[in-house]
Amino acid sequence: VSPTKPVDLAQVARSTGAAVVEVAGWRDRGHAGGMGAVATIVVHHTAGPAGDDMPSLDVLVRGRAGLAGPLAHYGIGRSGKIYVVAAGLCWHAGQVRDASFANASAIGIEAENVGDGVDPWPSAQRTSTVRLSAALCRAYGLTPGRVLGHREVCAPVGRKVDPRGLDLSMLRSDVKAVLAEPSAPTARPVLRRLLVLDLDDMMHGKDVEAVQGRLGVKVDGWYGPLTVSVVRDWQRRHRLDPDGIVGPATARGLGLTWWG
Ligand SMILES: [Zn+2]
Repeated sequence: VSPTKPVDLAQVARSTGAAVVEVAGWRDRGHAGGMGAVATIVVHHTAGPAGDDMPSLDVLVRGRAGLAGPLAHYGIGRSGKIYVVAAGLCWHAGQVRDASFANASAIGIEAENVGDGVDPWPSAQRTSTVRLSAALCRAYGLTPGRVLGHREVCAPVGRKVDPRGLDLSMLRSDVKAVLAEPSAPTARPVLRRLLVLDLDDMMHGKDVEAVQGRLGVKVDGWYGPLTVSVVRDWQRRHRLDPDGIVGPATARGLGLTWWG
């Protein structure tokens, strides 16, 4: 499906409801050759410094040693603010597994994140990533399956890890939900540790509350025997090892984001 009229990237960004910054000159920014028909949305992390909203913005515009900018069509700051960087061809994907993932066919979104697996994705940033991806799918007539992470499109496989800490199947399922119902919730509770029963030093916290909320048991924040027995039952029903431990598979199955 090729759109009959050009897509206005700033308008698409604003349709998400997020704050939008149009970086001066974005409409004319792009490498020689230009964009072809857009077939893919590729999500990245910047691997920039911790702290501010979008410390990598200048790099996205100007590039870095050995790679000239622009490096992405959009940046997404930690606050969820969307920066419109360039309308033309951007160099973000590098070597890819399929021509439909190549720079000329792909909109690049760079979300500000250190990429060390520790720096969190704030829920506002995650929400903007979902909503912007959905808005782009709508604008270009793409399915949620065309929203991919750099680590999924790169060649050779394993060359890239980004966007680290973002569960991409969950991203696509949230994009699908937003396409069906624009007000669908897009921020999922995050689990940062294995939940294991330890009667001597019982685990407690918001993550336990999130699990209890999903299981429909009393929400008291303690990972105790009652909660664990319900987890085991749930695991059995979902053909998982009924070990009573909430790890990646169980967390995802419960609709939580796993932070491994
Ligand atoms: Zn990347």
